Amino acid sequence: MKKMIDHNLQDIRKNISTAALQCGRDPATIRLVAVSKKFPASDIKKAIEAGQFLFGESYIQEAAQKKTEIGDAASFHFIGHLQSNKAKLAAQIFQMIETVDRYKLAATLDKELKLQGKTLDVLIQVNIGQEPQKSGVLLQDAEELFKQLIPLSNLKIRGLMTIPPYHDNPEHTRPHFQALRMLAEELKEKGYFFDNNHVELSMGMSSDYTIAIEEGATLIRIGTALFGHRPTR
Ligand SMILES: *Cc1c(COP(=O)(O)O)cnc(C)c1O
Repeated sequence: MKKMIDHNLQDIRKNISTAALQCGRDPATIRLVAVSKKFPASDIKKAIEAGQFLFGESYIQEAAQKKTEIGDAASFHFIGHLQSNKAKLAAQIFQMIETVDRYKLAATLDKELKLQGKTLDVLIQVNIGQEPQKSGVLLQDAEELFKQLIPLSNLKIRGLMTIPPYHDNPEHTRPHFQALRMLAEELKEKGYFFDNNHVELSMGMSSDYTIAIEEGATLIRIGTALFGHRPTR
């Protein structure tokens, strides 16, 4: 098993480099988020041994348990749907929350952060395919949300995140990645991000990450291609 994670990680790193270089990007500007949800902490440890430091988790309780086991040997991003009543715990566990998509959640997080005396990097999740079942702010509501978030000074809004509609042919996700990048550029022009010279775009998963890289991804979230098929809960 260690061998497999090790091997998969090397393959993915190679693919990231190749895709980046082919479109004239520096591979070092693309960070791999190893999506370890539903996999045991022992798999995270194997990936750490193979040189991976950044992981993505979708469930707060599961992540809290892993954080206890792994400690500071890894950095965790939250990529699942966050309920406001879990904001306190989330603010303690994660280096970044990639799925802020509504004012109430952001305000609760900000309040918790003030109590904990710290700031937190966040991304705004955009429902780029306008899918009713998915989380994320709609494209046309994004700017209004950014305006509402301005006073929440303990949140550092680093960029945008999306989970586009699934397609068997990954080429079909390309327009969604382009739409996210264009939205980021618009918001950047208006100065809405914490650092408008360095805006993060979290997009691309196992099946389409090389396309996401071509379209400007700075964070790619990969589970299956690294750890294998997720065990059913
Ligand atoms: C599970 C998950 C991933 C990883 O998906 P794979 O197809 O296994 O690479 C990426 N992003 C989010 C938000 C997820 O929930």
